[in-house]
Formats: sequence, C-alpha cells, structure tokens
Amino acid sequence: MSEALKENTPKVEKTAKAQKLVGVKGMNDILPPDSARWEWLEGQVRALMARYAYRNVRLPIVEPTALFVRGLGEVTDIVEKEMYSFEDRLNGEQLTLRPEGTAGLVRSVVEHNLLYEGGKRLYYMGPMFRHERPQRGRYRQFHQIGAEVLGFGGPEVDAELILLAHDLWKVLGLKDVRLELNSLGQPAERQAHRAALIAHLEAHSDVLDEEAKRRLHSNPLRILDTKNPAMQSVVEAAPRLLDFLGEASLAHFNAVKAILDANSVAYSINPRLVRGMDYYNLTVFEFITTSLGSQGTICGGGRYDYLIEQVGGKPAPAVGWALGVERVLELIKEQDEALPDLALDVYAIIPETAALSVAMQVLQTLRSCGVSAQMHAGSGEGMGSMKSQFKKADASGARFALVFGAEELAQGLVAVKSLRDGAGAQRTEPLSDVAHWAHTLQSSL
Ligand code: ATP
Ligand code: MG
Repeated sequence: MSEALKENTPKVEKTAKAQKLVGVKGMNDILPPDSARWEWLEGQVRALMARYAYRNVRLPIVEPTALFVRGLGEVTDIVEKEMYSFEDRLNGEQLTLRPEGTAGLVRSVVEHNLLYEGGKRLYYMGPMFRHERPQRGRYRQFHQIGAEVLGFGGPEVDAELILLAHDLWKVLGLKDVRLELNSLGQPAERQAHRAALIAHLEAHSDVLDEEAKRRLHSNPLRILDTKNPAMQSVVEAAPRLLDFLGEASLAHFNAVKAILDANSVAYSINPRLVRGMDYYNLTVFEFITTSLGSQGTICGGGRYDYLIEQVGGKPAPAVGWALGVERVLELIKEQDEALPDLALDVYAIIPETAALSVAMQVLQTLRSCGVSAQMHAGSGEGMGSMKSQFKKADASGARFALVFGAEELAQGLVAVKSLRDGAGAQRTEPLSDVAHWAHTLQSSL
C-alpha cells in the first residue's frame, strides 16, 4: 500500500481478529463450476432469441418506487411485503430494487417512444429482488429471463411467446414441464365475475384466512391463487372467470389454443390461474414442473394490454413472460443433464522459471488459435516440483500437458503429453510453428 493510501485508510483495531463478513441472506454467490451452467444457459437463450428475432435490452436495477406501486398494483404480494424500497440519502428520491422486469421495460419503452415505428420484440436477463422467506427455489436476489412483445394485440403473439418458451425447454433438455393456460378476459368481464366471486367467498367466510379476508374486497381474484390447503375446496367451487368471458375474449383465447394445437404444444386449462400482478388481462399462462417441490413454477406470463397506459404511455397492447433462472437450472440438475463440456485443452507444465517466457508466448499463440490453455503458476519462489505440477495438470481436467522442459526447448521443441485417452502417450512439436499443430489439441467438437 502506498503511503498516501495508508494515510487515507481508516485504522482498523489490530487487537481483535477482524470479523468475517458474510453475504446477505437469500442472496447467493454464483461460483465455478456452477457459473458455467449459467453461462451455458444464457448462451442458449441468446441464440434462441436471435432465431425468433427478439432483441436484447439492459435496464437499470433501481427504479422509482412509484413505478412498481402503480404498475404491479398496491394489493399484491410484491408491493405489500416483498420490495426492497429505500430513500436515496442524497436527494430523498424513493427508489426500489426491481422485483420484476416488466414494469421497468414498459417504463423504458414509453420513455424512449420505442413503439413509434411499430411493435417490438424484446428480451432481458438479470437479477430481481424480493424480500421472501429463502428456501429451495426462492431467494431474495434471483434471476429472471423475460421476453416481451409490445405493440401487437393479436393472439398470434401470445402463441409465439409460448412456442418460444416451449422451444427453450427443448433446447435446454427439460422434461416434465407442463403448460397451464387461462384467460382473465377484459376489465368489464372481470368486474361481473368479481361480484359473483365475492358473494361466493362471503358465503364461506368461516374458512377464509386472514389474508383472504383482507383481500376480499380489494383483490378477490388473488384469493384463487391461495396456497392454503384449508381453502382449496372453497376456491375450487368458486365461479369461474372463464364463464364470464364475452365473445371477443373467448375468440382470442380460442385462437391461442388453436395455434398451440397446430404446433403440438400440450396444455391444460386452469380456470384458477391468476398470476401475481394486477396488470394482466386475456391470456395468462404458467410452465410448471413437479420435480421441484412447491417451487414448481419455472415461468409465467400473459397479456398486459393496459400497463403501458397505466405508466403514462400511449395505450398499446403487450404480452410477455419471465422465467426463473435458478429454478430452471435446478431442474436441469435434477434431471442430471450432462454438463456442457468445459474441459480445458492444455495445462502448461513449466519446470524452471527460465522457460516461462517461451511458454507464455506459445500459450498466447495457442489461445489465438482457439485452444484453451492454463499456465502453471508458482508460489513466488520457483515453479514447484514436476510431480506437483503434473498433479495440478491432472486435477485441471485438461486433455494435454505441454511440458516446457529445458532439454526439448534447447532443440526448439515442446513435449505434448496426453492426460486422458491413451494417457501417457507423448510426442514433441516444434516451437517454430505452433499454429500448425494447435488444432490437434482441440476436442473434435
Ligand atoms: P411464486 O408463485 O413461486 O412466488 P411468482 O408468481 O411470484 O412465483 P413471477 O413474478 O411470475 O413469480 O416471476 C416469474 C418466475 O420467476 C417464477 O415463475 C419463478 O420461476 C421465478 N421467481 C419468482 N420469485 C422468485 C424467487 N423469490 N426466487 C427464485 N425465483 C423466483
Ligand atoms: Mg411470488
């Protein structure tokens, strides 16, 4: 540390051992080798989005609190109890760590007038924050990938989004994912259903829990979403929103179903599927697995034709979904899908520091030819014994060891030793023309 830096660094009491700091509960570090799965998944998503002509957006993690309160609805789990909201100490602004991606995306679309030239197909990936009870598949910082289509009102884009998600499960090798569909109709239809629903729930008020009672007049539809087993039979017998849909809503729903049928995408209708945010109308859907216990919903979405207007934009229809990355990865693990092959091609064994310069130049050439190469690094006092270097080479999983021994180097050569198939087989290659033999070190992928 420089003198100047030392002077400006607060003094830490040396007497007691510094207390170990740990991360925030429910917020996880994603480390190797797990991070490789994340990168692989993100790569698959990018490639698939490109094939569907969806373009990437990268939005702020912090948004004005009012955006979520207005956008998601005040009587929702997220706004009532899950948001990380705070006041900016410097200017008093009310801010929130985004609990989901749609509201911010819509804010951005309106702010930049993105629909001016017509509809847009967009996607995002990134962390979301909700203060929930951490458990398997439920974290306080988690990650979503979302796809949104804005400016198109037809059922064909609802179906396209579902086909996209369905394709993604195929690309990722997911089995045991089922699709549930419902239609929430339009506000007027919901209004008529709401009155019937409240009457039904009031008639069974003895079995309603506290939360349901509280929501009875503010957001009764959400009561249908309850996970309370004691309320299941009442909720199952409740009037179905589907029975209140008018002709146009039914036609929209039927058109979505017809496209799914034509593309052999299986689904079931769940009349109680309502979703957590207030902004949905018409089509709503969830992809669910039974392999992850109670956190089985891996992806959810639907149409939200009134949200853009609600956050101050010119009215325009929209539809989208978001998937939970942790849950999808957990499902891949559960199914024992083979890990993408991240194996290293080369581990460089460097017996003497004198060989470092040549070795590092060779590795640079190999890397520029697409070979992955890890250099043995010493402790600061020499390179370590050959035995310990070979041990590290084996542990690295590399397919070949390059041994930069003094004798070979003197002849302008490097030894190439196989560490896997036919382990021990050794040959030498010329240092003069590395690019020429580089390809022999790569897997045949
Ligand atoms: P749940 O009913 O499980 O709480 P949700 O309806 O709140 O889910 P959405 O807001 O629809 O979830 O978010 C889309 C997806 O994001 C979910 O289907 C899920 O896969 C994932 N997800 C939501 N909350 C969490 C969380 N706290 N931890 C991990 N993943 C989450
Ligand atoms: Mg939730």
